Amino acid sequence: MLEDIEGVIRPTEQDEGAKTRLSDTGKRYIEEVIPLHNEQTLVDRVDEVQGGFPPKAIDSDKDIAETIKPVIEEVNPIYLEAPTDTVQIEQAAEAMEKIEGLSFDEWKELSFEERVAILQLVEGVIAEIAHRPSCVVNVKRMDEGNYGYFDPDKGDITLNSRYIKSDSFEDYKECVDTIVHEGRHAYQHYNLTQREVHPREGDLTNWKSNEFKYGYQAAQVYGFKAYWLQPQECDARAFAEDLLKKYLED
Ligand SMILES: [Zn+2]
Repeated sequence: MLEDIEGVIRPTEQDEGAKTRLSDTGKRYIEEVIPLHNEQTLVDRVDEVQGGFPPKAIDSDKDIAETIKPVIEEVNPIYLEAPTDTVQIEQAAEAMEKIEGLSFDEWKELSFEERVAILQLVEGVIAEIAHRPSCVVNVKRMDEGNYGYFDPDKGDITLNSRYIKSDSFEDYKECVDTIVHEGRHAYQHYNLTQREVHPREGDLTNWKSNEFKYGYQAAQVYGFKAYWLQPQECDARAFAEDLLKKYLED
């Protein structure tokens, strides 16, 4: 009896295939707006056909990607699937090497304002590679040990000015690490609230349970360990560590 019930409710392989395959009506509905060359109309149509919130990258379904191919170059990358982390890290390290003033030898000679401008540039290039909007970078004097934060409500990043002013290599490294780390939080937030551009679904699942199921564990409220071990923090730390290693070693 139980087997019977399971047999009824479990979707067959054929059903699952049909659910993900783009229907002819859906395809026509998207094709219709391609000659308009209007980004917003195209994005709205694809979102409507795909359903769900936050909407997925408009090229994440391979049938839809094929359908919108003729105009994909015109679409702002913030609507498109981002590269994998490995590729993001490679591209970001390469882009950072081209930023004048970012190497420690040059950094040492710069004024405070120039250093802030460089960190803003780093945030901009990483945002572009990660297919998300770039954050404004603010500076503020904070307590020691506090390097900076991403504010999800304002969508900006604030860095501790004391480490930007310092001339030590260790503090320089912390500044670069922090701008990458906080930018990764901006990327997580974009994926959780605006559009799923991250190509790895398992990461999205972990970030969602962190943010929505258990809630973000702020160190001041939940203690350092709970803060340190939560998926969003582990992910941001690993991403920044890998990128810094690649940037400093190359
Ligand atoms: Zn963090």
